[in-house]
Amino acid sequence: MATPSSEPSEPAKSSESSRSPEVPSDEEVLQAVERYLSGRGNPVRLVAPGTAELSRQPLLEFRIDRRFEERHPGVPERVPGKKLKQIARRPSYTDLATHHVPVPAGFQPTPPVRLVLAGSVAEGPCPDCAAGKRDCDTCGGSGTQDCPDVVACDGCGGGSDSCWSCGGGGSRRRGSRKPPPNASPRTDWCRRCAAPKSACPKCVGFQTMTCPVCDGKRRRKCEACNGAKRVRHKPCEGTGFFTTFIEARITHPVESEQERVAAPAHLRLLTQWRAGWREERLRRVTDKLPADLPETLRGQVERQLALAEREVTRLATLRYLPVARVTVDADPDWVYFAFPERSGSATLKVVRRPAKQRVLRLVGIAAAAVVVALLVTLLVLSVTG
Ligand SMILES: [Zn+2]
Ligand SMILES: [Zn+2]
Ligand SMILES: [Zn+2]
Ligand SMILES: [Zn+2]
Ligand SMILES: [Zn+2]
Repeated sequence: MATPSSEPSEPAKSSESSRSPEVPSDEEVLQAVERYLSGRGNPVRLVAPGTAELSRQPLLEFRIDRRFEERHPGVPERVPGKKLKQIARRPSYTDLATHHVPVPAGFQPTPPVRLVLAGSVAEGPCPDCAAGKRDCDTCGGSGTQDCPDVVACDGCGGGSDSCWSCGGGGSRRRGSRKPPPNASPRTDWCRRCAAPKSACPKCVGFQTMTCPVCDGKRRRKCEACNGAKRVRHKPCEGTGFFTTFIEARITHPVESEQERVAAPAHLRLLTQWRAGWREERLRRVTDKLPADLPETLRGQVERQLALAEREVTRLATLRYLPVARVTVDADPDWVYFAFPERSGSATLKVVRRPAKQRVLRLVGIAAAAVVVALLVTLLVLSVTG
């Protein structure tokens, strides 16, 4: 059984004076529970064998952030225009594998480092246009496009209103079609059926009119280029040139892992806010876990600490709280929990919680009370009713 007084020569100790005390020994825990019980008027000796059971239930909050470095080989890139000088001013590399870039501080996401292969920058004419322009795709460079020579009459809509007698069909019917309501009277005669005062004045019964766009010439100005025949080439932004180069990227992705041993619900608030958690930060692979880290937690944390492939920096934050659970053989109704009260303090906080069997018994008593109350109610009802 390790007690603090038995390890005064621990080398790390002098430099760790500000840290929490080490994991309390069994004896210290039992003594703390003894003090707690005698404070409640129940002096017992627990250190003697066979009077109490002690088990360890340490809590853990562990997080490791790792930054990796990934080198993505150069790929051809191009930007519109003559930008040789501009691109040549960007950071460049000659051997990507050995090129040094600073690793970003912290563990927030960072943009990739873009590097131009030295000597790879070149300007050249755009292969898909001439001087930044090319033939209009819609009209094939003619500046015009097909157009119908006649269109529906815009006076009558090209339907049966073209003539109230023949409806544009040409054969006169017995009894004219009824003019639409609010229609102004017509004066023209239909050139198709010869009915008087019935034809649309614009198409005089024919339903169609000469296309006003092309004036019947069947060609109109191209809508895409507005008749210009040639249009600005978008990919090269109308410059007629591209600047090409080889670009490699170095990225520094971050990954995080967490491990946790949480407190049971009945101890959660207390251990969260009023307990002396021990905290360690490990920044290097060679940094050691604290010597007093309980063995059960050590295994859980250690497997997260191995150096990962392409890892360049890390920060592991380890928080743990040594919690001891004590039951007293003479008083099985309660369970006692002990843990450091504040960080840097040797005082152990002791709390008690009802044992499961006591909870069950209380539930039983409560259930019995409900049954009794029901029986009394029934009795009262049967007497008064
Ligand atoms: Zn172009
Ligand atoms: Zn007609
Ligand atoms: Zn008409
Ligand atoms: Zn037309
Ligand atoms: Zn066009």
